[in-house]
Amino acid sequence: MFLTISTTGSPERPATDLGFLLHKHPDKTQAFSTSHGTAHVFYPEASAERCTAALMLEVDPVALVRRGQGKGRGGAPDAALAQYVNDRPYAASSLLAVALSGVFRSALKGQCVARPELPEEARPLRVEIPALPARGGVELVHRLFDPLGWALVDVEPVPLDERFPEWGDSRYVRLVLEGELRLADALRQLYVLLPVLDDAKHYWVAPDEVDKLLRAGDGWLASHPENGLISSRYLARHKRLTQDALERLELVRLAEADGSEVEELDNAVDEDRDTEERPVPLAVQRREAILAALRAAGAARVLDLGCGQGQLVQALLKEVSFTEIVGMDVSMRALNLAAKRLRLERMGERQSSRVTLLQGSLAYTDKRLAGYDAAVLSEVIEHLDVERLPALEYAVFGSARPRTVLVTTPNVEYNVRWETLPAGHVRHGDHRFEWTREEFRAWADGVANRHGYAVEFVAVGDDDPEVGPPTQMAVFIQTESTTDTPKEGEAA
Ligand code: SAH
Repeated sequence: MFLTISTTGSPERPATDLGFLLHKHPDKTQAFSTSHGTAHVFYPEASAERCTAALMLEVDPVALVRRGQGKGRGGAPDAALAQYVNDRPYAASSLLAVALSGVFRSALKGQCVARPELPEEARPLRVEIPALPARGGVELVHRLFDPLGWALVDVEPVPLDERFPEWGDSRYVRLVLEGELRLADALRQLYVLLPVLDDAKHYWVAPDEVDKLLRAGDGWLASHPENGLISSRYLARHKRLTQDALERLELVRLAEADGSEVEELDNAVDEDRDTEERPVPLAVQRREAILAALRAAGAARVLDLGCGQGQLVQALLKEVSFTEIVGMDVSMRALNLAAKRLRLERMGERQSSRVTLLQGSLAYTDKRLAGYDAAVLSEVIEHLDVERLPALEYAVFGSARPRTVLVTTPNVEYNVRWETLPAGHVRHGDHRFEWTREEFRAWADGVANRHGYAVEFVAVGDDDPEVGPPTQMAVFIQTESTTDTPKEGEAA
């Protein structure tokens, strides 16, 4: 059983960083004893330009049978010869997945103590598995890996015997994956999908398998079109566990819908990053700029669209001039955290009558949003795919049509000034895009023209003479009050 992971690099961003990511030194050959045999990790090549790590699992078939784990589902109790003469030692399979999680535990979790920024970075990866048992064949391998963001998914059937092509193909395929991904994401996909393709789990499925599946599926499984098949096979077709997994995935999917990211809400990554080593955190400066613009506009009834955990809603509540505050987000998880932060439950009636939290998506028109003085979209647009922006545009500027709209978004030009941000990277993994000042201006001018608004731009944070400010804000003021009709291509 054999799997290689390769990456390429440059002197500034050496490929040998793979060693840090995997917590295995490229100069060493290491062996780890696992419950099924010995796992070897070594690097066939390790230079700044190219680095390949190989994981080879030497399975002890006798140990496997003694552990009662070589039987497959149903497990006949007799020690038939077939149990000893099985394909486990040759195929990359669920055992390899288990070895992967044992040997590369920290990498799978995306942890790297020595270089904490590394796991966050997507890098060019190539994964090769020469012999992968695949029940469902080439077609299923594509259905499983194609939706996961790999640029190349190359699957070739392995013939039973090359000398006798008429014998047809074996149940193995050779799999090559190539793309820009975070290593932890790639490893977690393999950890789940290798046993799914093998479809013969070697251990009994326990209820905590659902937790394992959800943990390993974090960030990709909920929205995977085949998550039904994946869960069912991963859980050895156990109906109740599969049902449980699918229900929990559906909750995750709802929270993730339209680009919100669950972990982001837990860690407030956006904010942490922005605030690093800064006297006044950028998130605070942004909030101040928004409040100032809302005061200047004389707004009393305010929408916070994509409110996240409700920091702005909380700040708005502190000022009596804001009489009605609505926080909306697509993520229920975010809204629950916002409710906690605001202590909605313990709030007096007067205070609580000023605030409403709504679940909704900016990709759809929503009657509940009509008739407000102002709407804020703080660090939200970059969480939607660019193709969705016309729908958001129509929902906010065409349908809800508040008098004032504030939109903030990162200025990508400023990224070179973040010491902790590697070149060419966005500030957060879930940002679908980050714009230059010119790109933002072009979008905002277009929106203003199409919907009867005038727009001005405000720099938020240190306005660097060369690259501009870290955050850019557009202030839209309505000039034509007529509700416009949807133009073609704008309908939500
Ligand atoms: N406004 C907050 C949070 C920004 S993070 C702040 O400035 O700190 C982006 C937020 O947008 C997330 O909470 C995410 O759930 C939400 N979001 C993403 N897509 C959305 C959509 N289509 N509709 C509504 N909210 C969305």
